[in-house]
Amino acid sequence: MAKKLDLTRREMPKQTAEVRRQNFEEVALGYSVKLAREEAKRCLQCKKPHCVDKCPVEIDIPGFIQCIAEGDFGKGVSVLKDKNLLPAVCGRVCPQEEQCEEGCILNKKGGEIAIGRLERFLADWEATQGDSKVLRKPEKTGRKVAVVGGGPAGLTVAGDLIKLGHAVTIYEALHEMGGVLVYGIPEFRLPKVIVKREVDYLRKLGVNIYTDFVIGKTRTVDSLLEEFDAIFIGSGAGLPWFMQIPGENLNGVYSANEYLTRMNLMKGYLFPEYNTPVKNHRNVAVVGGGNVAMDCARTALRLGAREVQIIYRRSRQELPAREEEIENAEEEGVVFKFLTLPVKYIGDENGWVTEIECLKMELGEPDASGRRRPVPIEGSNYTIPMDAVVCAIGNSPNPLVPDTTPGLDVGKWGNIKADEETGKTSREKVWAGGDVVSGAATVILAMGAGRKAAKSIHSYLQTLELD
Ligand code: SF4
Repeated sequence: MAKKLDLTRREMPKQTAEVRRQNFEEVALGYSVKLAREEAKRCLQCKKPHCVDKCPVEIDIPGFIQCIAEGDFGKGVSVLKDKNLLPAVCGRVCPQEEQCEEGCILNKKGGEIAIGRLERFLADWEATQGDSKVLRKPEKTGRKVAVVGGGPAGLTVAGDLIKLGHAVTIYEALHEMGGVLVYGIPEFRLPKVIVKREVDYLRKLGVNIYTDFVIGKTRTVDSLLEEFDAIFIGSGAGLPWFMQIPGENLNGVYSANEYLTRMNLMKGYLFPEYNTPVKNHRNVAVVGGGNVAMDCARTALRLGAREVQIIYRRSRQELPAREEEIENAEEEGVVFKFLTLPVKYIGDENGWVTEIECLKMELGEPDASGRRRPVPIEGSNYTIPMDAVVCAIGNSPNPLVPDTTPGLDVGKWGNIKADEETGKTSREKVWAGGDVVSGAATVILAMGAGRKAAKSIHSYLQTLELD
């Protein structure tokens, strides 16, 4: 008899908006065992699962869901970790609604399986079982690989190659591993203890990790090539964009990168326990409409701002942030000012920003991105009083490695040019992937690029004669 369709996604409990805007603790609380098993039992266990087709790292999704449905969580963790070494991270921050969940057969009927929540459930369940076990002990191949950057792409390459027996060393420029996972994504969306746990697992697998080690300064890619058989560059996109409008040098105007790094990596919200303070502004404007803009606005609220406004030049429909993050921001009291473009920041005699001059916009014909183009309405200028502005309009790839590596081809945005399928760059023995190639994108896409590069690096290493 055919399985009866259950189209009701189980909701994940979360802190109420009133409570959570007062704290930095995680907003979503995760499934209970009961909710996870109920959700897992809705899965149809498709013979040709389109959810997997849409997963950049090809996780056996029906496989781990089946384990949850049967209550065999340990086996579920093995299935999940076979393809994804960062499940607790991906379960929280990947845009599943555009990937696996969009591909889910039940999506057509409006009841797609909550794959991300189930992934998170398994990873969190494992964390309650004590130290994660190393699932495989590989034979050593004698080959050595250096990974530049300890973010999602680099961690994936390291995880895949160490499991194949190659010796892997990661060089991370900051004092903590995780890249954008630690400096960019706030604690209330991704607790840092989770990133640490997943990095610790790589250490257990045998990956060597050097932090505070800046490739391009402390050593160059060319000097690494004297020691390693292959190099993977995953140095991310951490160079913030500004709008190039008057007043951007005023005090109180931040890049999203600086604002979030002070809060997340340097724990500014715990001053004086941690020694990097953040000024508590009363009226904060965040310019931009992506996930980073939502993170900045929600962070400002938690720091005690009286009003936080997101200024976005298109309408709500075109907001690029995840719907879940937009809803969370709205519930918490962030005010959205749509069809608005800042043209100038105005300051006081002490050099602090006090106002933003804006232009009203209207939507015209669709542009190359398919979204309707915002068109300024002449003479519609007006000002908004403000004592801080966070510019969250995007980032370029970090230039340090390309600038110090002769012969490495770069694109017009400073991104390293790499083959889409293999991650190979214009330099021999050098691969690249993640945001330094694609520009700022998602964690899972960076991991997908890392996986392809790891496969290509492994094929190359197999062709080498051992000394
Ligand atoms: S497509 Fe949906 S229903 Fe089918 S196996 Fe994947 S998650 Fe389950």
